Amino acid sequence: MDTAPKTEKKVPLRLCLGCREMKQKSELFRIVKSPDAIVSIDLKRKKPGRGAYVCNDIKCLNKVIKTNALARALKTKISEEIINELTAGYIKPEESIIES
Ligand SMILES: [Zn+2]
Repeated sequence: MDTAPKTEKKVPLRLCLGCREMKQKSELFRIVKSPDAIVSIDLKRKKPGRGAYVCNDIKCLNKVIKTNALARALKTKISEEIINELTAGYIKPEESIIES
């Protein structure tokens, strides 16, 4: 018997820049550089500009910062200010992701 086609469910996948895994959009944050070069997390995924996807896991965020992958994807420098802001965005109080 032939294997069934795998394309039954069309879940749009995006590549995480940190772990290089394809994930569902719901598992990723979109980080966007607006036309006026402001880098921020695009929670609603509706901001204009160049975007990059990173898991909603602070480990992946740290990785893309460390490896410069985010800077390359967005074609901009990631300043400490931006890093702080992104980190703060990841640590959302209402969903506080507690890891030990
Ligand atoms: Zn990841």
